[in-house]
Amino acid sequence: MSTTVSVDLGGTWLRIRHGDATERLPSPSSIRQPGTPSDELLEQLVDTLDLHVPQGAAANISCGAALDEQNGVALGSGPLWGGAPTGEIPLLDVLTSRRPDVRWRLVNDVTAGLASFALGFARPTDRHIAYLTISSGIAARTAVLTDRTIPVDHRGLQGEIGHLRAMSSAPEAVRTLPCACGGIGHVSSISSGPGVEAVAEVLGIGYDVDTFAASLTAGHADAARLLRIVVEPIAELIRTMITLDPRLDRIGIGGGVAEGLCEFYGRELEEQLAETRSYADSLTSERVAEIIHLCKPGDIDTLAGADAIADGYLRAIKI
Ligand SMILES: [Zn+2]
Repeated sequence: MSTTVSVDLGGTWLRIRHGDATERLPSPSSIRQPGTPSDELLEQLVDTLDLHVPQGAAANISCGAALDEQNGVALGSGPLWGGAPTGEIPLLDVLTSRRPDVRWRLVNDVTAGLASFALGFARPTDRHIAYLTISSGIAARTAVLTDRTIPVDHRGLQGEIGHLRAMSSAPEAVRTLPCACGGIGHVSSISSGPGVEAVAEVLGIGYDVDTFAASLTAGHADAARLLRIVVEPIAELIRTMITLDPRLDRIGIGGGVAEGLCEFYGRELEEQLAETRSYADSLTSERVAEIIHLCKPGDIDTLAGADAIADGYLRAIKI
């Protein structure tokens, strides 16, 4: 049997698991190397993987990019390759031509996160299950558990919500913040890791990622305001998802931003979701608790998720 290597390619870290050992390297990404052209970053990625993947191995890669999983074509990633869309990147072809001996399998990182979340937290009665990641980028993925599928569009995409216009009642300076994709006022502009920092800056709120939770614990009004503003676009998206899909029984919220502030994030989200605005609202605190699971660090293992997808646990299908 061939060796299996699991890889997680994020905007910040490139993690490579081989047996029991996991190596963590700085990602060849726009976040790490601002201004470096995307083809150069891609070259660095291929060189690194070439070095780490043994002869004849199976390599399951969880990839932080919008990706057509059926043909391994990447359609862009703000954190990884930055800027405006630069055209399709045939990632699977590039890897296969460098190392034809390896069985490469590319999975979007949110799909891998969804597989890991479903494996760990789906209840037998859950019909549709979604996973939303809030880290250096933001995206969601929903699976139909009754037939173990992830429906995707003609380009192989689903749930690229990070680059939708943010629903926000914050001041205009916040609503017009630039996004890593080149757009303006996107959900990622406000609610992603870099977004939180940018919001704090335009509002003149002192912010340090390492002390933010402590500021919230201490009850600092500025910290509470910052949290309310960065959670709002996410709460609005979730409210919309639940409104449009009555079979959506479970939503996992993960990624560094949400997991780092776990209890605070969960409480703020619950408060915003349970707010009644019209006769059509049905989200009580109890119902929110039934649907939403705020992930703790360690709940989601994208490497295991990528392996599960490679084993056929969930299938992306174009409909
Ligand atoms: Zn964007």
